[in-house]
Amino acid sequence: MNRTKRSGQERLTADDCPRMSFFQRYTLEFFDHHLAQSIAFIEKCLFRRYLAHSDFAERIHGPDVPLGAMTQTKSVAFHTLGCKLNYAETSSISRVLEAEGFVKANFDEFADIYVINTCSVTENADKECRQLVRRIQKRAPQSMVVITGCYAQLKPNEIAAIPGVALVLGASEKFNIANHLKELSGQDHTKICSCDIGDLTDFHAAYSFGDRTRTFLKVQDGCDYHCSFCTIPFARGQSRSSSISSVLENVQEIVRTGVKEIVLTGVNLGDFGHNSTPDGKRENLYLLLKELEKVEGLSRVRLSSVEPNLLSLDIIRLARESQKLMPHFHIPLQSGSNRILGLMKRRYRRELYKERVSQIKDLIPHCAIGVDVISGFPSETADDFQDTLEFLESLEISYLHVFTYSEREHTKAVEITPVVPVRERHYRTTILRALSDHKSQFFRLAQLGQNRKVLFESQNRNGLIEGYSDNYIKVAAPYRDDLVNSIVDWVID
Ligand code: SF4
Repeated sequence: MNRTKRSGQERLTADDCPRMSFFQRYTLEFFDHHLAQSIAFIEKCLFRRYLAHSDFAERIHGPDVPLGAMTQTKSVAFHTLGCKLNYAETSSISRVLEAEGFVKANFDEFADIYVINTCSVTENADKECRQLVRRIQKRAPQSMVVITGCYAQLKPNEIAAIPGVALVLGASEKFNIANHLKELSGQDHTKICSCDIGDLTDFHAAYSFGDRTRTFLKVQDGCDYHCSFCTIPFARGQSRSSSISSVLENVQEIVRTGVKEIVLTGVNLGDFGHNSTPDGKRENLYLLLKELEKVEGLSRVRLSSVEPNLLSLDIIRLARESQKLMPHFHIPLQSGSNRILGLMKRRYRRELYKERVSQIKDLIPHCAIGVDVISGFPSETADDFQDTLEFLESLEISYLHVFTYSEREHTKAVEITPVVPVRERHYRTTILRALSDHKSQFFRLAQLGQNRKVLFESQNRNGLIEGYSDNYIKVAAPYRDDLVNSIVDWVID
């Protein structure tokens, strides 16, 4: 005879009575099922009541006192949206908080505080931020959510209205986060700490660390260019940078940790040194790179995006001669139509862009060149798009980063008509991405059989380890511990 055991008692089941009618059997199973569900529900309620009165509840929810007054260690989890600059800044903010006694947690786990470093470059970044806050609300409704970064600077009130956000930190306050958290309690109102972006003149260095074999080092912030589609100058303020001596200090610190490659980042990296140092000396990106050549133990320097009008021949020549500066440039184009470049308020025309690419390829034939391009900018006709496509086809470039134009509040571009229908924008993006695939395959094919230096990263991806050549070709090999963070001669296949 079959019996089920619950709470130490044996109970009869439908299988015990083979002569039961279908109706009797169904009724018994129905009650059995619902009885089990009811017991589980009561057990859950009792467990919740227990939690609500135990220490465990305090650990989960945290008492309603200022964080700074707490003796208990608080955990903090981070999420970054957007660019390499944001990654560098999140990493630095997390180190600031760890130094203040906070414990870093994984974003997918429970944390007392969640910090989201936002971006505002695309509409999706705004949406993504809202979705993340909703996810946190579901998982840990009593945790504090802090929003910082470009979106927080541009639309603090919009963010403060998102249920669950406790603190909004604008551009001037993000590195002051530890002090703000210490003062924060389980208040009803969201606190907004922001500034007028025109008043922002400080530069805060930042670098990513611990998650990669490459480090992104921020050496410049802000931008004075005011391209008509871009919100970054409103979110990050005027152009300002580190001094060469302080970059060198950070680089020494990074190199001591064993990192082999440093990627120099900034909003407008080519504008590095735009502001003179306190002793009145003018510095620039070329002079910085020359100094980095002398740093012992530093194996590789890579540049993130540099505007074509700021990429000097001196820098290109240095990349040819240097063992440290990688043969890889990322140069934004945005459009191959001079009419559209004019409307975008870009500071070059396609002729200058073409000249830069030719100079690079003449001096460094194996150099990788990445290009940013925007599809569907207002008033971009089919002919303008065709110009862009043909221009890009004609250039010896290695890959494209394609962005579909989206309207951003307060920019000049939103006043330009006629707008390109969204479907057409996406169609143009698809064509440009196909061109990018073609270009990168062609570039790789051209490098086949060449011996290049590859820096392997640290992750074991299903038995494989990945790395990048000096000229930014991704390679993979069977995972070996000795390859991690090593620079190895590698034949491109
Ligand atoms: S150069 Fe233009 S696109 Fe780039 S950050 Fe400055 S304003 Fe924006």
